[in-house]
Amino acid sequence: QAKAGGKACYMVFDQTMHRHALERLQLENDLRRAIDDHQLQVYYQPIIATDTGRITGFEALLRWQHPERGMIPPNYFIPIAEETGLIQVIGQWVLREACQRAKLWQLTFPQSPSLFMSVNLSIHQLTYPNLVEIIADILTETGCDPRYLKLEITESAIAQKAETVIPILEQLTALGIQLCIDDFGTGYSSLSRLYYFPITTLKVDRSFVAAITQSNGTAKIASAIINLAHSLGLEVIAEGVETEQQLAILRSWGCQLAQGYHWAKPENSQDTEALLASSPCWQ
Ligand code: C2E
Ligand code: MG
Ligand code: MG
Ligand code: MG
Repeated sequence: QAKAGGKACYMVFDQTMHRHALERLQLENDLRRAIDDHQLQVYYQPIIATDTGRITGFEALLRWQHPERGMIPPNYFIPIAEETGLIQVIGQWVLREACQRAKLWQLTFPQSPSLFMSVNLSIHQLTYPNLVEIIADILTETGCDPRYLKLEITESAIAQKAETVIPILEQLTALGIQLCIDDFGTGYSSLSRLYYFPITTLKVDRSFVAAITQSNGTAKIASAIINLAHSLGLEVIAEGVETEQQLAILRSWGCQLAQGYHWAKPENSQDTEALLASSPCWQ
């Protein structure tokens, strides 16, 4: 009996695996068509100055509106894009869209300093042979000022390929672009090591922000990270701020920039533009 049960389990498992493999293959094919069919969209989440409550810039976040499956989250399809190499063409499209949008919003909603745009870069893009030229071309084409472009690279990506990546980061810095370490706190890197990367900004991961209201070790680590980043002259952006209490603590720690559902979720360009037009000054 046990044996029969075991076999049944094995068959269910096998069928599930088969279904997953098929689904994935299907998605791969669909993704190839997604750009041309205008199924991809860039959403924008405001990044807020914690002292004034004003919008200082945006993070560009990719969305895939699949014709049958609805909205597919980036954490699900970006790995597929990376494995198939589609990330190159998709990533370049995101950059162009975001730079174009940044330029437009800077003109429509002038402020000092200008609104910035922060774009996520996969490690596969960072190690692509012509990346620096491609980005330089996109900046020229769109008229986007490199000082107001930030590129986000995850801590784990940088740490794994440090030797390959540092010269590229230096070339990007030479273009005038700002570089952020994304999801900091999740990759077990030491901040003292990161000091040697040519970065301007540290984005503290949401899991750390979630812990700051608790009186435990994680909260102390988060506070220490922010302090050290500041003393190294780095700008700090807190990710995933959801409550007034989290904001109050971050403010008391001198963290100047933050993003999160407390202010706004990522929205499409039209809704984001409406938000900018209403010039919110959140408190
Ligand atoms: P990320 O770069 O760390 O982006 C922040 C994620 O946190 C976004 O998820 C955002 O919607 C979410 N978020 C922001 N505030 C809050 C909050 O208060 N609460 C909660 N629960 N979540 C919040 P999203 O848009 O699903 O993106 C997930 C990840 O996909 C991104 O993480 C990034 O690693 C990747 N990604 C998104 N767009 C791109 C892209 O254009 N290129 C590449 N290479 N990766 C991208
Ligand atoms: Mg990011
Ligand atoms: Mg992040
Ligand atoms: Mg994160």
